Amino acid sequence: STVYLNGDYMNAEHAKISPMDRGFLFGDGIYEVIPAYNGNMLGFAAHIERMKNGLNELEIVLDYTADTWREICQQLCEKNHGENLGIYLHVSRGADTKRAHAYPSGITPTVFAYAFEIPAQPVSDIDNATTYTVSVEQDKRWQRCHIKSTALLGNVIHYQHGAAAGNKETILYNRLDELTEASSSNVFIVKDGVISTPPLDNQILPGITRWLILTILHSHSDFKVQERIITKQELFAADEVWITSATKEVGPVVKLNGQLVADGKPGKIWQQVQSLFTEHKFDY
Ligand code: PLP
Repeated sequence: STVYLNGDYMNAEHAKISPMDRGFLFGDGIYEVIPAYNGNMLGFAAHIERMKNGLNELEIVLDYTADTWREICQQLCEKNHGENLGIYLHVSRGADTKRAHAYPSGITPTVFAYAFEIPAQPVSDIDNATTYTVSVEQDKRWQRCHIKSTALLGNVIHYQHGAAAGNKETILYNRLDELTEASSSNVFIVKDGVISTPPLDNQILPGITRWLILTILHSHSDFKVQERIITKQELFAADEVWITSATKEVGPVVKLNGQLVADGKPGKIWQQVQSLFTEHKFDY
């Protein structure tokens, strides 16, 4: 496949970076994943804005504008001709001459991007939906989960615990038994017709899909929606549970630690929300 590295497009096998790159040594970098269907990107501006926020927080100075990023994404779509592609963008602080913790001055960030195949766009009918069985466990990551850092070992270990149990995701709760998010998704629950999701803070990634769902619900429906603290007990007692991410969209969860969610099928509200999402997702 064709990838982008520091201003050039090349075959993946020719893309080389230094082992002194701080992305390699420290996981010192920021990344994004943007879905593109036949070249149409979903939530592009919001993804780029979140990456800029992350770079600012890490004091990584990079002079790429949103137009520069758009051009890179479009080139990768064209050169890799896939119908359903995820565009991965990665900026590390760059390569130093030595391994030292302090941010070095005067180094150039490393910018890497590539495209990979993703599943077709999710559908909203109950019988053909992709459903998720998940594990649930205590969140043992760091206290800066709002940064989309390339240092993902905490998330990887949580995901692996779910995978080892035969599940496709792991939902997490903090030491106060409050729901945070999942290892690579945000979480929503539905109880008695009310849709709830944890509020944005340092414990969760501000998911673009989460934001799109909230925006679409607020402007196109009269569902009752709350951003509030949700307990682990409420998760297990929910009528519906969804995990959301760029490629899953609104992913219906049918089992939590082996226990069925309601009747073990995607719910009625899930169907309505995924269908509204399908209708409006490219509006923003
Ligand atoms: N939370 C975590 C930890 C993630 O890694 C992701 C994305 O992969 C999400 C939430 C969902 O974010 P988005 O909707 O922007 O894909």
